[in-house]
Amino acid sequence: MTIGIITYLFFGGPNYHFIYKFVNLIITRVGDLVRTAAEKTMCKALGDLRIPYQVFRLYCFECKDHFEWKNWQVPDLCHIGKHKLWFREFARPDIVIESSDRRRTAVIRVDGGIHEKKRVKNNDYFQTIKFNDCGVRVFIVKNEDIDPRYSPTFQPHALALLFRRLLDEPTLYDKIYSSSKYWKEHNRKL
Ligand SMILES: [Zn+2]
Repeated sequence: MTIGIITYLFFGGPNYHFIYKFVNLIITRVGDLVRTAAEKTMCKALGDLRIPYQVFRLYCFECKDHFEWKNWQVPDLCHIGKHKLWFREFARPDIVIESSDRRRTAVIRVDGGIHEKKRVKNNDYFQTIKFNDCGVRVFIVKNEDIDPRYSPTFQPHALALLFRRLLDEPTLYDKIYSSSKYWKEHNRKL
């Protein structure tokens, strides 16, 4: 409020750019906090096993590539193709990993309770199709899969190794993972 009055007095009107930057700063901080404990557990497991991973990525389905984006808000333009980013034409994967030969990419989706909601579940479903169209594998981790209260402490590490192996051998991904009951259960329209 005070900022509004000050900018109004000094600039002869509200300084929208300043307000926008200020709001952006706050949202960025909130976005930082949005990373869940389960996501951090999964990242730690990947790190422990020396499997390179990336977070804060924005994947563009048009350019079929991703770039770093730490802001909670969506950028005006895609950093790769410099085009406008439309709704559903991009995704913000929790974790991105690459195959050993760096030729294939996979995303790890760490699902909290919110993913059980119809809108989120359907969005996840369509996003998976888009990722697959771009040749990107999708791995799913439910919070409870790696919660030490319900699963062994090495479970995140076991999953990290499995994901890397299935990414290195695409035929195994189809044979073991995407045809499994688990995968189908967590990748369906409601
Ligand atoms: Zn793009």
